[in-house]
Amino acid sequence: MHWGFGAAAALAGSIAMVAIRAPHGHRSMKVKVATSRKGRLEKVLLTIAWAGFFVPILWMVTPWFRFADYPLHPVPFAAGLLCLVVGLWLFRKSHADLGTNWSITLELRENHKLITSGVYRLVRHPMYMALGLYSIGQALALPNWVAGPSYLASFGVLFVFRLRHEERMMRDQFGKEYDDYAARTKRLIPGVW
Ligand code: SAH
Repeated sequence: MHWGFGAAAALAGSIAMVAIRAPHGHRSMKVKVATSRKGRLEKVLLTIAWAGFFVPILWMVTPWFRFADYPLHPVPFAAGLLCLVVGLWLFRKSHADLGTNWSITLELRENHKLITSGVYRLVRHPMYMALGLYSIGQALALPNWVAGPSYLASFGVLFVFRLRHEERMMRDQFGKEYDDYAARTKRLIPGVW
């Protein structure tokens, strides 16, 4: 068992992620899926993202990644904690704003509404921004060259390969309403991109 500040931060972060998502996931499961675009690419991307999420846990409970350990320094650790906390806050807020319109994959639910308020007023993908911040936090706070950046890499792959398909699905469903939203709201960083 690997223990220390880095492991404690990574473990607490992973538990918080699951705890924040669980009630929302449970609620959306009760709303029927009207359209699904969960093709082969989505299945591969979800598998990669899950694998990346579990590597830090494996780092804690097995000796497999010990070769890539390095000493933890307080400055990157503190910066990492900050990213984790802000990322988790935004994760919670974007789940609350999206409500039962949330899906883990490319799906639209019955009576799906386009959400443009709350943090969705600031950017179109606040949940991906939250996961990005969280994974940067983990890369900084977890002192191992494999387990630290594993979620950053796996979530990065999901983000890059999914984004265009998700936006196309939303445009196909909501038409001008989505175009207007996209015209006034950037993807990840307000006013920039
Ligand atoms: N990309 C968003 C949502 C991630 S969850 C974010 O980062 O915050 C993915 C699912 O959320 C998609 O399959 C779609 O069904 C739904 N979705 C994405 N943006 C939405 C929006 N603005 N309003 C309603 N549902 C949305």
